[in-house]
Amino acid sequence: MEWNLLDECKDAKRIGISGHIRPDGDCVCACLSMCMYLRKCLPKAQVKVFLEKPADIFRELKGFDEIDSEFGDEEPFDVFFVMDCGADRIGDAEKYFRDAKKKINIDHHVTNKGCEGLNHIVPDVGATCELIYDMIDPGMLDRDLAMALYVGIIHDTGIFQYSNTTPATMERGAKLISYGFDFPRLIQETFYQKSYIQSNIMGRALLESIRFMDGRCVVSCVDRKTMQFYDAEPDDLDGIVNQLRNIRGVDCAIFMYQTGVLEYKVSLRTSESVDAAEVASFFGGGGHARAAGCTMRGTFHDCVNNLSLHIEKQLRNS
Ligand code: 5GP
Ligand code: MN
Repeated sequence: MEWNLLDECKDAKRIGISGHIRPDGDCVCACLSMCMYLRKCLPKAQVKVFLEKPADIFRELKGFDEIDSEFGDEEPFDVFFVMDCGADRIGDAEKYFRDAKKKINIDHHVTNKGCEGLNHIVPDVGATCELIYDMIDPGMLDRDLAMALYVGIIHDTGIFQYSNTTPATMERGAKLISYGFDFPRLIQETFYQKSYIQSNIMGRALLESIRFMDGRCVVSCVDRKTMQFYDAEPDDLDGIVNQLRNIRGVDCAIFMYQTGVLEYKVSLRTSESVDAAEVASFFGGGGHARAAGCTMRGTFHDCVNNLSLHIEKQLRNS
C-alpha cells in the first residue's frame, strides 16, 4: 500500500465514513470498525458514519446506534471514507464525498475502478474488513473492533465457505476470535437466523422458482404486492438467492425483487461456469465473480430474457 491510514488522517478534525446503499454485513462492519479504530487512534477527531439504515441484526456492534441515516447538511469533512464500494454507490452520502478535502476509497470489488483521491482496492481479498484488518495497528485491536471485523468477514465469505476464503482469511479469523466474543451466537443471530415472516417469504420464493437452461439456471421473483402482503423490507429477502444457489445442478441463481414500476433489484450467485460480475456489469451493476447484482428495468420476463442471453453465452463457453 502506497499510503498510510493514520498519516493521512492525523491532521483531520472531522472524518466521515460511508458505504454502499442497502448496506450488507461487510459494509456495515467496515464502516463501524474504521470508525472505532480512528476514534481510538485519533481521540481529538470527530468521526461519523453515514449509512442507509442497516439491519437490526448488527445492533450489538459498537457505534451502531450513532449511525446517521438522515444525511443532513454537514460542513465539509477533512477526510471522507468510502467503504466496500465506489463513490457512485453511496446514495445520499455522495455530497459529503464530493465536498471532502481528502477522499479515501477502500474496497474489494473487482468492478470498482477507483475514484478521485486515495484508493486501496484489492479484488482478491474476501471482505473489505480483511483489508481493514491488514491496515490497522494490531496493538490497537480490542474486543469490539475484533468482533466487527469478524462479523464483516463471515458475512462476505459465507462463514469461511465461499471461494473468496483464503488461508489468510482463516488466519485473520483465528486471531480475531482470540478476543473472546461469542462467535457461535453471532454467526447464528446475524447470518442464519430468520424471522417467521422472512422464512415465509423465502419459502414462497423457493416454491415459485422456475428452472431453465436444463436446470442450470433458476430464477425467483418477489413483487411489490407480495412484499406489502408480508410487510417485508428488502433486508427481509437476504439469503433467498443463496438458497436458490444451493439447488443441485444450478450454475446460476437469480433472485429479483421489485423496487418500482417495471424496476427490479437483481442478485446473482454462480458457480465457476458463470462470471456474475461480468453479467451484472453489463446491466450497470457489479460485484464479485461468484456474487453480483444490478438494477434492471422492464417486466420480469424482459429482465430474465436479457440476463439469460449473457448467462447462456458463458455457460456454452464453459
Ligand atoms: P447482493 O446480491 O447480495 O445484493 O450483492 C452481491 C454482491 O454484488 C455484493 O458484493 C454487492 O456489493 C454487489 N452488488 C449488488 N448490487 C450491485 C449493484 O447494483 N452495483 C454494484 N456495483 N454492485 C452490486
Ligand atoms: Mn464486501
